[in-house]
Amino acid sequence: MAASKGGGPAIGIDLGTTYSCVAVWRHDRGKVIANDQGNRLTPSCVAFTRAERLVGEAAVNQAALNPTNTIFEVKRLIGRRFRDESVQEDAKLWPSKVVAGRDERPLIVVQHKGKERQFRPEEISSMVLAKMRETAEVYLGKAIKNAVITVPVYFNNSQRQATIDAGTIAGLNVMRIINEPTAAALAYGLEKMPLSNKRRTVLVFDLGGGTFDVSLLNIDPVTNKKNKGVFEVVAIAGDTHLGGADFDSEMVKYALREFTRRHGKMDIHSNQKALRRLRTACERAKRMLSSTAQTTIEVDSLHDGIDFCATITRSLFEELNKDLFSKCMKALDKCLCDAKMDKSSVHDVVLVGGSTRTPKVQNMLREFFGGKQLCQTINPDEAVRTAPPSRPPFSAAAKPTMGVIPRNTAIPTKMAKLFTTLYDNQTVVCFPVYEGESADTRDNNLLGKFALTGIPPAPKGVARLHVTFDIDANGVMNVSAEDLDTAKKKSVTIINHGGRMPKEEIARLVPIEI
Ligand code: ADP
Ligand code: MG
Repeated sequence: MAASKGGGPAIGIDLGTTYSCVAVWRHDRGKVIANDQGNRLTPSCVAFTRAERLVGEAAVNQAALNPTNTIFEVKRLIGRRFRDESVQEDAKLWPSKVVAGRDERPLIVVQHKGKERQFRPEEISSMVLAKMRETAEVYLGKAIKNAVITVPVYFNNSQRQATIDAGTIAGLNVMRIINEPTAAALAYGLEKMPLSNKRRTVLVFDLGGGTFDVSLLNIDPVTNKKNKGVFEVVAIAGDTHLGGADFDSEMVKYALREFTRRHGKMDIHSNQKALRRLRTACERAKRMLSSTAQTTIEVDSLHDGIDFCATITRSLFEELNKDLFSKCMKALDKCLCDAKMDKSSVHDVVLVGGSTRTPKVQNMLREFFGGKQLCQTINPDEAVRTAPPSRPPFSAAAKPTMGVIPRNTAIPTKMAKLFTTLYDNQTVVCFPVYEGESADTRDNNLLGKFALTGIPPAPKGVARLHVTFDIDANGVMNVSAEDLDTAKKKSVTIINHGGRMPKEEIARLVPIEI
């Protein structure tokens, strides 16, 4: 197990959209820990009731009876703004109410112990993290402070910050944020594989519960003790709304067609409880079909006292989902195409996410890569968390700023650019710092701003203002500026405060008090 600087054991947490998982590092490999229900995966679900707060299985089990106070998939909201298109779209589909907070960040509204309460996404995530921490503490029999948390490659500065804040609220010291595909590649120890000193190209195919991410990584191999392998994200592709839940939905639609065919048109479509029970049965059947050729979808007294039982074969399952499967392959093509790379130059294909257990997905991948052996020996829904927690900084995908740092730049990174004055005798220059790819700054995310003052009066364009953009291993950015001519080393550092929970507020939330 890795001892970290702050002392004590460190844990690795994969805070998934649908499931989370925690691992400790021991005997040179990550050990995934089962929760109080004996499950290695804990649903990333939090529920509020008249009497208590529930996390994990307990929350899922009462979801049908308490839909508006049961929060699923909060990872889709974390670190985003209320008016973001994706937040608006997701909020439409959620049974719980989402409103805009005073800083434009989304707030989730629930009834808890008879009172209305509003939670920031990072607070809900912190409850899941606290549960994962407890799971590890029970297993190790000691308090745990230090954690590494994984996030998707495409998470921006604000989403990473909010994830760190969620950890802090859960009483954790977040040592590092690691990109999920990087963590998966580390779990397989690919950075240690000799390849005659060539860079290793790894494709990570992550098909989870609600999201699908393909990442192409380059790994500089470990050549000596100091060099621990540098990971570079070459390209990413995927779909934020494609995953196991969509396969379940196709099965639910099929079951509903069967039900109406047998019993005539009934109002089952508006029976929320029936639909949820049917979905659970379909998901169970789907998992079965990964190891058997045929199974049944069975629900007692599904609707109007009528039992439902239907046989489903693997080939029917594949037929029902063929469009979704081909979407996956298109994204894979796009990722390689964006990287201008041929599939033959991929050294390893790593399967991540519970849905890659689907035989059809594995077969398609194997065929696509010409019969290649896939990295699938580690449980795919655990691969992300079995990475060693105390690794040195890795590269990751970074985000652009003011057109200075291009998309997909490996981090940590430092870049500098010279700026100058726009007007004659200008003594103050304001630097807004944006994150985003649009040429129109209004479409980008304002991370913060600062002013450089005391510039000696001069004609416009004379001053030389040296601005440095520095992104650390967690993907958190610092910007500093210096007037080169005055030699007065006045530099300013800004960290992203945009929409982040103020420090005092985080402090107030530790430990969680509900
Ligand atoms: P997350 O997206 O939260 O990272 P996971 O990687 O744990 O989630 O994947 C969860 C998804 O994997 C769920 O949709 C689940 O139904 C699916 N899944 C788990 N086991 C299997 C299996 N044996 N066959 C097919 N799908 C599976
Ligand atoms: Mg995942």
